[in-house]
Amino acid sequence: MSYTIFILLDVYNCIFWIIFNKEGMDNQMLRNVIRISEPLCTGCGLCTGACPHGAIVVSGLKAKLIRDEYCDGCGECTSVCPRSAVKMENVDTAPFNEAAARQRLAERISDDNPAVTNWPVQLQQVPLSAPYFNDCDLVIAADCTAFTHGDFRRFTTGRTLLIACTKLDSFDYSDRLSKILARNNVRSIHVIRMDVPCCGSFVVMVRKALELSGKNIPMVVTVISMKGKVNQ
Ligand code: SF4
Ligand code: SF4
Repeated sequence: MSYTIFILLDVYNCIFWIIFNKEGMDNQMLRNVIRISEPLCTGCGLCTGACPHGAIVVSGLKAKLIRDEYCDGCGECTSVCPRSAVKMENVDTAPFNEAAARQRLAERISDDNPAVTNWPVQLQQVPLSAPYFNDCDLVIAADCTAFTHGDFRRFTTGRTLLIACTKLDSFDYSDRLSKILARNNVRSIHVIRMDVPCCGSFVVMVRKALELSGKNIPMVVTVISMKGKVNQ
């Protein structure tokens, strides 16, 4: 008798599970989606620009897939990563949601999501302390890079931008930048320079500022060729 009751309860549990988990099961499928290795990622941002859906963001010098449903498994990001940090994996997850991905991309490039969130952007002009420096990922770019690279926005979205030219300007940028770094909580620094000899001094300037500030902030350098390609 008790054995019969046990079987009936088990059958009841199965029916209950099938009814109430059907929706969840329908929303899952086995498919290719990327996974990013945090230790390998340098935060260069190349994968963010490669993704046709804007599915990847970089925060604190680490790339992250915003949501599995934005990723269709095309593999564009895996081929551009210089550190082989992006791998395609077959996982049980939400299906690709084309409408949501299209909306995500539209939001990224809309007027409500400007390429830069701080103003001014000139290192000579910015105040030494400002709200946009607090807990920020800082992009410090040589002037020419933004005009040479076709999708510069991918480096700046969601970050604080400073620009300067160490060849043409006679200004002590290291001193000013070191004060900004010392007075604010900058999480990471992404230096973007041109692949021309005169721009080498740009990276030297940032390194000197970092040393003067006494802070230990992770830093990565991206080099843009004269044809606008990313050489890294
Ligand atoms: S391309 Fe690779 S190293 Fe660069 S941000 Fe993307 S995952 Fe990280
Ligand atoms: S695999 Fe394709 S869709 Fe997915 S994150 Fe990479 S570039 Fe974007």
